[in-house]
Amino acid sequence: MSPTTTPASGKDPFKLHPFDLGRAYEKLFERWGPQGWWPADTQTEIIAGALLAQATNWKNAAAAVAGLKTRGVLEDSSESLQGLLELPQEELEELIRPSGYFRQKAGRLRRLTMFLADNLGPPPWKIPGSQVMLWRERLLELNGLGPETVDSILLYGFDLPCFVVDAYTRRLLLRHGMITDQTSYEEIRFMFEDALPRRSEIYNEYHALIVRLGKEHCRRSARCTDCPLFA
Ligand code: SF4
Repeated sequence: MSPTTTPASGKDPFKLHPFDLGRAYEKLFERWGPQGWWPADTQTEIIAGALLAQATNWKNAAAAVAGLKTRGVLEDSSESLQGLLELPQEELEELIRPSGYFRQKAGRLRRLTMFLADNLGPPPWKIPGSQVMLWRERLLELNGLGPETVDSILLYGFDLPCFVVDAYTRRLLLRHGMITDQTSYEEIRFMFEDALPRRSEIYNEYHALIVRLGKEHCRRSARCTDCPLFA
């Protein structure tokens, strides 16, 4: 049975149906165009931002990123990397405090940075496209990195085609009866990757557009009226 949802301004619930993921991308892009993700100056900043955005909103993560930038430790250079790794723990925690869970995140950021430096040298870092799944598995083995964070790092930090699934994506698909509460992260990722050309620029734009959709229309209380996906 298709789920229903009540528009903010109407009395009768709309009946929502599954939609074509490729066509939905076109509709969202036609409405809003390129979203310019990821908003950052360097690869190191993108990677740090993806990690600091865990379990918080972007405003808080951006404040933590800004704190690190004041110390010049998010440049793509050996000196900057060294500076980040040598920051005293307490100072690092204080700088990223706005992002919440700052003690855990400080440890995760240090471990991730050391892992990348040990395996890839100083930034900017590059991972060959042929090794993307291998690297995905290796990053997922690092303590505190879940699939959403790892896919964000690979997609936005390394320009590799890993589709990012977040709470907005899940809510949208649930409302249209395309998944259930039991559908796993990996199943949803495969749905998108099966439906789309395997191109990082499309995954990049699509995820950013879904976030915009989730903020403007597919909110906790859906605003289906005038939504690009309301057919
Ligand atoms: S707001 Fe848009 S995407 Fe969300 S349920 Fe309504 S029509 Fe679908």
